[in-house]
Amino acid sequence: MTWQTTTTGKDGGNTPITIGNAHTGFSALHGFKTEYGSGLFNGLGDRLGATVVIHADKPWDVLQHSYGRAPVMAIEANDLSPAQLDEWAKSVPDDVTIVGVGGGTAMDVAKWVHWRRQLPLVQVPTLASVDACFTRMSALRDQNKVRYEGDAVPDVVLVDYAILQAAPSAFISAGIGDVLSCHTALADWRFAVSKGESHPWNDQAAGASLRFVDGLEKSASGIKDQSEEGIRSLMELHREIGWLCHDLQHARFEEGSEHFFAYAFEQVTGRTILHGELVSLGVLIMTAIFDNDYARVKRIITACGTRHGLDELGIKWEEIEATLKILQKFSIDGGYWYSYAHSRNFGEKEIEIARKALDF
Ligand SMILES: [Zn+2]
Repeated sequence: MTWQTTTTGKDGGNTPITIGNAHTGFSALHGFKTEYGSGLFNGLGDRLGATVVIHADKPWDVLQHSYGRAPVMAIEANDLSPAQLDEWAKSVPDDVTIVGVGGGTAMDVAKWVHWRRQLPLVQVPTLASVDACFTRMSALRDQNKVRYEGDAVPDVVLVDYAILQAAPSAFISAGIGDVLSCHTALADWRFAVSKGESHPWNDQAAGASLRFVDGLEKSASGIKDQSEEGIRSLMELHREIGWLCHDLQHARFEEGSEHFFAYAFEQVTGRTILHGELVSLGVLIMTAIFDNDYARVKRIITACGTRHGLDELGIKWEEIEATLKILQKFSIDGGYWYSYAHSRNFGEKEIEIARKALDF
């Protein structure tokens, strides 16, 4: 099937371009096709024809009025269990384009339905706080554990500056979490290799991982200001990271103890906060406890304007403490990649360091 969309610049001009596998021959080999611009979302439903929109509720409430032709079906993505995902995949009619609109959950559900049904996929991230629009697998929640499955390559990811800039600023500044995590994850990977417990070391991936953090530091002021340049830099980092994950067939350079902290927090509290902010807290805590250049990550988080105070995040210190107390067991029992979080029981001493790391 072929289909068309247009790019719409700030001037509202419509330059038809053809996208899609059949026309461009664009394939998985070239990375995700991504378009940047302001107003790209306006009239998308008109340009795509029959669509199924898979969305997060709040952004869609606001955005549906500018979508144009209404979707034949709209699914509120609020569940990442395999059973529910497959139920949604089955419910979707043939000959539609899947459009994901929202954050990580909406992107992941859209990827799943696209993959299961082999339907075209357009992703419209409404926040920059996760890299889910640039990764091929969906992050399922399967019996309290995060598990990756699927293989989705969208026809295009539309990064609409107007949408991202209209969202609360935290939806952009939180986006650094899945880039900054390279800092801790790389140390975890190195550590795991030294213990003979991991995917083999890869110099190129390790070098790229370092460059991603450097790139983040360089883009910090633009991210804080929510400028188009800052947003684009951040999304390009996510795009490259997503692609490297696929190349390597694992994400060891980007996911380690800081993520396991985040998952343990979700288990302990039964709730979550913006993914990138939670991961950033994990980075602060892990770098402080394991003496891994805490000062640098603190500097980057501050320069990007990323929230990290417990009060502003609505987190109680007791929740952090409870998370740390179970972290080692949680990481081991969950079968997560071997990391610093596996290596030590987090007792009074570590908890005190974490308290200072979070300025609490
Ligand atoms: Zn993440």
